[in-house]
Amino acid sequence: MKITAIHCFPILVGWRNQLLIKVETDEGVYGWGESGLSGRERAVIGAIDHYREFLIGRDPMQAGALWQELYRSQYFEGGRVLSAAISAIDIGLYDIKGKALGVPVYQLLGGRQRDRIPAFATAPAEPGPEMIEQAKQLQDAGWSCIRFVPAGQNATDCFEPRESIGQTAPWMVRAREVLGPEVALGIDYHHRLSVAEAAAFCQRMPSGTLDFIEEPIRDETPSAYEALRQLTDVPFAIGEEFSSKWQFLPYIERNLHQFNRLDICNVGGFTEAMKVAGWSEAHYVDLMPHNPLGPICTAASVHLAASIPNFAWLECRSSPVEQLGFDNSEIFPVQVSLQGSAYVVPDMPGLGVEVDEKYVRSLDFHFSEPPHLRRRDGSYTNW
Ligand SMILES: [Mg+2]
Repeated sequence: MKITAIHCFPILVGWRNQLLIKVETDEGVYGWGESGLSGRERAVIGAIDHYREFLIGRDPMQAGALWQELYRSQYFEGGRVLSAAISAIDIGLYDIKGKALGVPVYQLLGGRQRDRIPAFATAPAEPGPEMIEQAKQLQDAGWSCIRFVPAGQNATDCFEPRESIGQTAPWMVRAREVLGPEVALGIDYHHRLSVAEAAAFCQRMPSGTLDFIEEPIRDETPSAYEALRQLTDVPFAIGEEFSSKWQFLPYIERNLHQFNRLDICNVGGFTEAMKVAGWSEAHYVDLMPHNPLGPICTAASVHLAASIPNFAWLECRSSPVEQLGFDNSEIFPVQVSLQGSAYVVPDMPGLGVEVDEKYVRSLDFHFSEPPHLRRRDGSYTNW
Protein backbone atom coordinates (compact mmCIF):
# COMPACT_ATOMS: atom_id res chain seq x y z
CA MET A 1 0.00 0.00 0.00
CA LYS A 2 1.20 3.52 -0.79
CA ILE A 3 0.16 6.99 0.34
CA THR A 4 -1.25 8.85 -2.66
CA ALA A 5 -2.59 12.12 -1.20
CA ILE A 6 -2.83 14.16 2.00
CA HIS A 7 -5.62 16.74 2.16
CA CYS A 8 -6.03 19.46 4.79
CA PHE A 9 -9.46 20.76 5.81
CA PRO A 10 -9.41 23.71 8.20
CA ILE A 11 -13.05 24.22 9.11
CA LEU A 12 -15.06 26.17 11.63
CA VAL A 13 -17.07 23.79 13.84
CA GLY A 14 -19.05 25.37 16.64
CA TRP A 15 -17.02 28.45 17.54
CA ARG A 16 -13.54 27.02 16.89
CA ASN A 17 -11.56 25.82 13.93
CA GLN A 18 -10.69 22.17 13.57
CA LEU A 19 -7.91 21.15 11.22
CA LEU A 20 -8.82 17.76 9.75
CA ILE A 21 -6.45 15.86 7.52
CA LYS A 22 -7.25 12.96 5.23
CA VAL A 23 -4.56 10.52 4.12
CA GLU A 24 -5.43 8.54 0.98
CA THR A 25 -3.84 5.36 -0.37
CA ASP A 26 -3.63 3.52 -3.66
CA GLU A 27 -5.82 0.74 -2.24
CA GLY A 28 -8.75 3.04 -1.57
CA VAL A 29 -8.27 2.86 2.21
CA TYR A 30 -8.09 6.30 3.80
CA GLY A 31 -7.53 7.68 7.27
CA TRP A 32 -8.64 10.81 9.11
CA GLY A 33 -6.54 12.76 11.56
CA GLU A 34 -6.86 16.01 13.52
CA SER A 35 -4.29 18.59 14.54
CA GLY A 36 -4.47 20.11 18.00
CA LEU A 37 -2.71 23.45 17.54
CA SER A 38 -5.94 25.41 17.54
CA GLY A 39 -5.62 28.95 16.21
CA ARG A 40 -2.49 28.34 14.14
CA GLU A 41 -4.01 26.14 11.42
CA ARG A 42 -2.20 27.88 8.54
CA ALA A 43 1.17 27.09 10.12
CA VAL A 44 0.29 23.41 10.53
CA ILE A 45 -0.99 23.24 6.94
CA GLY A 46 2.36 24.68 5.85
CA ALA A 47 4.18 21.92 7.73
CA ILE A 48 1.97 19.28 6.11
CA ASP A 49 2.75 20.82 2.71
CA HIS A 50 6.43 20.07 3.39
CA TYR A 51 5.72 16.54 4.65
CA ARG A 52 3.53 15.70 1.68
CA GLU A 53 6.59 16.15 -0.55
CA PHE A 54 8.21 12.98 0.81
CA LEU A 55 5.21 11.05 2.16
CA ILE A 56 3.57 10.44 -1.21
CA GLY A 57 4.50 6.91 -2.31
CA ARG A 58 5.47 5.77 1.20
CA ASP A 59 3.98 2.78 3.07
CA PRO A 60 1.23 4.01 5.45
CA MET A 61 1.63 0.87 7.63
CA GLN A 62 5.03 2.12 8.89
CA ALA A 63 3.79 4.80 11.30
CA GLY A 64 6.68 4.29 13.72
CA ALA A 65 9.40 4.69 11.10
CA LEU A 66 7.61 7.60 9.44
CA TRP A 67 7.26 9.35 12.82
CA GLN A 68 11.04 9.36 13.21
CA GLU A 69 11.45 10.79 9.74
CA LEU A 70 8.77 13.45 10.23
CA TYR A 71 10.18 14.55 13.57
CA ARG A 72 13.87 14.42 12.73
CA SER A 73 14.05 15.34 9.06
CA GLN A 74 15.49 18.67 7.93
CA TYR A 75 17.87 18.72 10.95
CA PHE A 76 15.72 21.08 13.11
CA GLU A 77 13.72 18.60 15.17
CA GLY A 78 10.20 18.92 16.49
CA GLY A 79 8.42 21.94 17.92
CA ARG A 80 4.71 22.52 18.43
CA VAL A 81 3.80 23.27 14.81
CA LEU A 82 5.59 20.22 13.42
CA SER A 83 4.32 17.95 16.19
CA ALA A 84 0.72 19.07 15.57
CA ALA A 85 1.17 18.17 11.90
CA ILE A 86 2.83 14.85 12.79
CA SER A 87 -0.01 14.09 15.22
CA ALA A 88 -2.67 14.51 12.53
CA ILE A 89 -0.74 12.36 10.06
CA ASP A 90 0.04 9.64 12.64
CA ILE A 91 -3.61 9.40 13.72
CA GLY A 92 -4.58 9.13 10.04
CA LEU A 93 -2.05 6.31 9.57
CA TYR A 94 -3.52 4.38 12.51
CA ASP A 95 -7.01 4.86 11.06
CA ILE A 96 -5.71 3.40 7.78
CA LYS A 97 -3.98 0.48 9.49
CA GLY A 98 -7.07 -0.40 11.51
CA LYS A 99 -9.25 -0.31 8.42
CA ALA A 100 -6.72 -2.27 6.36
CA LEU A 101 -6.51 -5.01 9.00
CA GLY A 102 -10.22 -4.86 9.83
CA VAL A 103 -9.70 -4.04 13.52
CA PRO A 104 -10.44 -1.07 15.79
CA VAL A 105 -7.35 1.01 16.59
CA TYR A 106 -7.22 -0.18 20.20
CA GLN A 107 -6.33 -3.64 18.87
CA LEU A 108 -3.18 -2.10 17.40
CA LEU A 109 -2.23 -0.71 20.82
CA GLY A 110 -2.30 -3.92 22.82
CA GLY A 111 -6.05 -4.45 23.06
CA ARG A 112 -8.76 -3.18 25.37
CA GLN A 113 -8.06 -2.78 29.08
CA ARG A 114 -11.41 -1.17 29.94
CA ASP A 115 -14.95 -1.33 28.60
CA ARG A 116 -15.91 2.31 28.98
CA ILE A 117 -13.95 5.53 29.13
CA PRO A 118 -14.94 7.70 32.10
CA ALA A 119 -15.09 11.40 31.22
CA PHE A 120 -14.97 14.65 33.14
CA ALA A 121 -17.18 17.61 32.38
CA THR A 122 -16.64 21.34 32.75
CA ALA A 123 -19.09 23.59 34.55
CA PRO A 124 -18.78 26.57 32.21
CA ALA A 125 -20.28 29.26 34.46
CA GLU A 126 -17.76 31.43 36.26
CA PRO A 127 -17.66 31.02 40.06
CA GLY A 128 -21.03 31.84 41.61
CA PRO A 129 -24.43 30.26 42.28
CA GLU A 130 -24.91 29.18 38.64
CA MET A 131 -21.60 27.27 38.74
CA ILE A 132 -22.80 25.36 41.82
CA GLU A 133 -26.12 24.59 40.09
CA GLN A 134 -24.32 23.27 37.01
CA ALA A 135 -22.05 21.09 39.15
CA LYS A 136 -25.05 19.68 41.02
CA GLN A 137 -26.75 18.93 37.72
CA LEU A 138 -23.66 17.06 36.54
CA GLN A 139 -23.35 15.16 39.80
CA ASP A 140 -27.04 14.17 39.65
CA ALA A 141 -26.46 12.92 36.09
CA GLY A 142 -23.67 10.64 37.32
CA TRP A 143 -20.52 12.64 36.55
CA SER A 144 -17.80 11.75 39.04
CA CYS A 145 -15.27 14.39 38.01
CA ILE A 146 -16.13 18.04 37.45
CA ARG A 147 -13.83 20.85 36.37
CA PHE A 148 -14.42 24.51 37.13
CA VAL A 149 -13.22 27.67 35.43
CA PRO A 150 -11.87 30.66 37.33
CA ALA A 151 -13.45 34.10 37.63
CA GLY A 152 -12.47 36.10 34.56
CA GLN A 153 -12.37 33.01 32.35
CA ASN A 154 -14.75 34.46 29.81
CA ALA A 155 -13.27 37.96 29.72
CA THR A 156 -12.26 39.13 26.28
CA ASP A 157 -10.06 42.08 27.22
CA CYS A 158 -8.89 42.20 30.85
CA PHE A 159 -7.72 39.51 33.28
CA GLU A 160 -6.38 40.47 36.67
CA PRO A 161 -5.02 37.40 38.52
CA ARG A 162 -5.41 38.60 42.11
CA GLU A 163 -9.02 39.63 41.50
CA SER A 164 -9.71 36.24 39.94
CA ILE A 165 -8.12 34.39 42.85
CA GLY A 166 -10.12 36.38 45.39
CA GLN A 167 -13.40 35.77 43.58
CA THR A 168 -12.76 32.11 42.76
CA ALA A 169 -11.36 30.65 45.98
CA PRO A 170 -14.48 30.88 48.19
CA TRP A 171 -16.63 29.26 45.49
CA MET A 172 -14.30 26.26 45.28
CA VAL A 173 -14.68 25.79 49.03
CA ARG A 174 -18.46 26.18 48.67
CA ALA A 175 -18.54 23.64 45.81
CA ARG A 176 -16.83 21.02 47.97
CA GLU A 177 -19.28 21.68 50.83
CA VAL A 178 -22.29 21.33 48.53
CA LEU A 179 -21.08 18.40 46.40
CA GLY A 180 -19.63 16.27 49.18
CA PRO A 181 -16.46 14.22 49.47
CA GLU A 182 -16.84 11.68 46.66
CA VAL A 183 -16.84 13.72 43.46
CA ALA A 184 -13.44 14.74 42.07
CA LEU A 185 -13.17 18.51 41.63
CA GLY A 186 -10.63 20.54 39.73
CA ILE A 187 -10.03 23.92 38.16
CA ASP A 188 -8.23 24.99 34.98
CA TYR A 189 -6.27 28.24 35.38
CA HIS A 190 -5.09 28.18 31.74
CA HIS A 191 -1.49 29.31 32.39
CA ARG A 192 -2.70 32.62 33.80
CA LEU A 193 -0.91 32.76 37.15
CA SER A 194 2.62 33.31 38.40
CA VAL A 195 4.16 30.90 40.92
CA ALA A 196 3.27 33.26 43.79
CA GLU A 197 -0.30 33.74 42.53
CA ALA A 198 -0.84 30.01 42.02
CA ALA A 199 0.49 29.35 45.52
CA ALA A 200 -1.78 32.04 46.97
CA PHE A 201 -4.80 30.50 45.25
CA CYS A 202 -4.01 26.96 46.40
CA GLN A 203 -3.29 28.12 49.94
CA ARG A 204 -6.84 29.47 50.13
CA MET A 205 -8.09 25.90 49.61
CA PRO A 206 -8.56 23.85 52.78
CA SER A 207 -6.77 20.54 52.18
CA GLY A 208 -9.01 18.20 50.20
CA THR A 209 -11.02 20.95 48.48
CA LEU A 210 -9.55 20.37 45.04
CA ASP A 211 -8.40 17.09 43.49
CA PHE A 212 -6.40 18.91 40.84
CA ILE A 213 -5.42 22.31 39.52
CA GLU A 214 -4.83 22.37 35.78
CA GLU A 215 -2.11 24.50 34.21
CA PRO A 216 -1.79 27.07 37.00
CA ILE A 217 1.43 28.49 35.48
CA ARG A 218 3.14 28.42 32.08
CA ASP A 219 5.17 25.34 31.27
CA GLU A 220 8.50 26.31 29.74
CA THR A 221 10.38 25.99 33.04
CA PRO A 222 9.83 22.68 34.84
CA SER A 223 11.74 23.94 37.88
CA ALA A 224 9.05 26.61 38.34
CA TYR A 225 6.60 23.77 38.86
CA GLU A 226 9.10 22.29 41.27
CA ALA A 227 8.98 25.55 43.23
CA LEU A 228 5.18 25.58 43.17
CA ARG A 229 5.14 21.93 44.29
CA GLN A 230 6.83 23.03 47.51
CA LEU A 231 4.09 25.59 48.18
CA THR A 232 0.89 23.54 47.83
CA ASP A 233 -0.51 20.04 48.26
CA VAL A 234 -3.03 20.32 45.37
CA PRO A 235 -2.22 17.76 42.60
CA PHE A 236 -1.20 19.24 39.24
CA ALA A 237 -2.81 18.30 35.90
CA ILE A 238 -0.50 19.46 33.10
CA GLY A 239 0.82 18.64 29.67
CA GLU A 240 -1.87 19.48 27.09
CA GLU A 241 0.52 21.61 25.05
CA PHE A 242 3.54 19.30 25.30
CA SER A 243 4.68 18.32 21.84
CA SER A 244 6.91 15.31 22.45
CA LYS A 245 8.09 12.76 24.98
CA TRP A 246 11.06 15.05 25.59
CA GLN A 247 8.82 17.82 26.91
CA PHE A 248 7.18 15.35 29.28
CA LEU A 249 10.57 14.02 30.38
CA PRO A 250 11.35 16.41 33.26
CA TYR A 251 7.74 16.44 34.46
CA ILE A 252 7.54 12.66 34.63
CA GLU A 253 11.04 11.96 35.90
CA ARG A 254 10.92 14.64 38.59
CA ASN A 255 7.36 13.65 39.59
CA LEU A 256 6.16 17.21 38.99
CA HIS A 257 2.64 16.38 37.82
CA GLN A 258 0.07 14.00 39.19
CA PHE A 259 -2.28 13.91 36.19
CA ASN A 260 -0.95 13.80 32.64
CA ARG A 261 -3.04 16.03 30.33
CA LEU A 262 -1.49 14.66 27.12
CA ASP A 263 -3.20 15.79 23.90
CA ILE A 264 -2.88 13.10 21.24
CA CYS A 265 -3.32 15.77 18.53
CA ASN A 266 -0.35 17.76 19.87
CA VAL A 267 2.08 15.24 21.35
CA GLY A 268 2.72 13.34 18.11
CA GLY A 269 -0.24 10.98 17.62
CA PHE A 270 -0.54 7.40 18.83
CA THR A 271 3.14 6.66 18.21
CA GLU A 272 4.28 9.24 20.76
CA ALA A 273 1.27 9.07 23.12
CA MET A 274 1.81 5.37 23.87
CA LYS A 275 5.41 6.05 24.86
CA VAL A 276 4.42 8.92 27.16
CA ALA A 277 1.65 6.75 28.65
CA GLY A 278 4.08 3.93 29.39
CA TRP A 279 6.56 6.27 30.97
CA SER A 280 3.78 7.80 33.09
CA GLU A 281 2.70 4.32 34.16
CA ALA A 282 6.18 3.69 35.57
CA HIS A 283 5.71 6.78 37.77
CA TYR A 284 2.10 5.89 38.77
CA VAL A 285 0.76 8.96 36.96
CA ASP A 286 -2.64 8.58 35.32
CA LEU A 287 -3.56 10.11 31.98
CA MET A 288 -6.36 12.66 31.88
CA PRO A 289 -6.22 13.47 28.15
CA HIS A 290 -6.93 16.91 26.74
CA ASN A 291 -9.85 16.69 24.32
CA PRO A 292 -11.13 20.19 23.58
CA LEU A 293 -11.92 20.04 19.86
CA GLY A 294 -13.35 17.52 17.43
CA PRO A 295 -14.66 13.95 17.27
CA ILE A 296 -11.44 12.67 15.65
CA CYS A 297 -9.46 13.78 18.70
CA THR A 298 -12.15 12.23 20.90
CA ALA A 299 -12.04 8.90 19.04
CA ALA A 300 -8.23 8.77 19.06
CA SER A 301 -8.21 9.58 22.78
CA VAL A 302 -10.83 6.88 23.46
CA HIS A 303 -8.72 4.21 21.71
CA LEU A 304 -5.66 5.37 23.65
CA ALA A 305 -7.58 5.39 26.94
CA ALA A 306 -8.96 1.91 26.23
CA SER A 307 -5.47 0.52 25.74
CA ILE A 308 -3.52 1.76 28.75
CA PRO A 309 -3.69 0.79 32.43
CA ASN A 310 -3.04 4.26 33.86
CA PHE A 311 -6.09 6.31 33.03
CA ALA A 312 -8.28 8.71 35.03
CA TRP A 313 -10.81 10.66 32.92
CA LEU A 314 -11.09 11.96 29.36
CA GLU A 315 -12.11 15.58 28.84
CA CYS A 316 -15.63 15.94 27.44
CA ARG A 317 -17.01 19.20 26.05
CA SER A 318 -20.48 17.92 25.32
CA SER A 319 -22.24 17.41 28.64
CA PRO A 320 -25.68 18.22 30.09
CA VAL A 321 -24.39 21.72 31.00
CA GLU A 322 -22.09 22.44 28.04
CA GLN A 323 -22.92 22.03 24.37
CA LEU A 324 -20.26 23.68 22.22
CA GLY A 325 -21.21 22.05 18.91
CA PHE A 326 -17.70 20.71 18.22
CA ASP A 327 -19.22 17.26 17.56
CA ASN A 328 -21.55 18.47 14.78
CA SER A 329 -23.23 15.33 13.49
CA GLU A 330 -23.73 16.74 9.98
CA ILE A 331 -19.95 16.93 9.57
CA PHE A 332 -19.24 13.77 11.58
CA PRO A 333 -22.19 11.42 10.90
CA VAL A 334 -20.36 8.52 12.60
CA GLN A 335 -18.51 9.26 15.82
CA VAL A 336 -17.80 7.92 19.31
CA SER A 337 -20.86 8.16 21.54
CA LEU A 338 -21.21 9.24 25.12
CA GLN A 339 -23.38 7.13 27.42
CA GLY A 340 -24.01 8.96 30.66
CA SER A 341 -20.61 10.19 31.77
CA ALA A 342 -18.50 7.70 29.80
CA TYR A 343 -17.52 7.19 26.19
CA VAL A 344 -18.32 3.91 24.46
CA VAL A 345 -15.27 2.22 22.93
CA PRO A 346 -16.07 1.77 19.23
CA ASP A 347 -15.65 -1.65 17.64
CA MET A 348 -15.61 -0.71 13.96
CA PRO A 349 -12.33 -0.90 12.03
CA GLY A 350 -10.04 2.10 12.41
CA LEU A 351 -10.94 5.07 14.59
CA GLY A 352 -14.70 4.70 14.24
CA VAL A 353 -15.29 8.19 12.80
CA GLU A 354 -16.75 9.10 9.43
CA VAL A 355 -16.54 12.59 7.95
CA ASP A 356 -18.96 13.99 5.36
CA GLU A 357 -16.17 15.11 3.03
CA LYS A 358 -18.49 16.69 0.48
CA TYR A 359 -20.03 18.84 3.18
CA VAL A 360 -16.61 19.64 4.66
CA ARG A 361 -15.39 20.84 1.26
CA SER A 362 -18.31 23.30 1.15
CA LEU A 363 -17.32 24.89 4.48
CA ASP A 364 -15.23 28.03 4.79
CA PHE A 365 -12.10 28.58 6.80
CA HIS A 366 -12.27 31.47 9.23
CA PHE A 367 -9.14 32.92 10.72
CA SER A 368 -9.72 33.00 14.43
CA GLU A 369 -7.67 34.47 17.18
CA PRO A 370 -8.32 34.01 20.89
CA PRO A 371 -8.72 37.15 22.97
CA HIS A 372 -5.49 39.00 23.72
CA LEU A 373 -5.89 39.71 27.42
CA ARG A 374 -4.29 42.56 29.33
CA ARG A 375 -3.82 43.41 32.97
CA ARG A 376 -5.35 46.64 34.25
CA ASP A 377 -1.94 48.30 33.84
CA GLY A 378 -1.99 47.51 30.10
CA SER A 379 0.56 44.67 30.08
CA TYR A 380 -0.14 41.46 28.22
CA THR A 381 -1.29 38.33 30.01
CA ASN A 382 -2.21 34.83 28.85
CA TRP A 383 -5.65 33.95 27.50
MG1 LIG B 1 -6.33 23.10 30.03
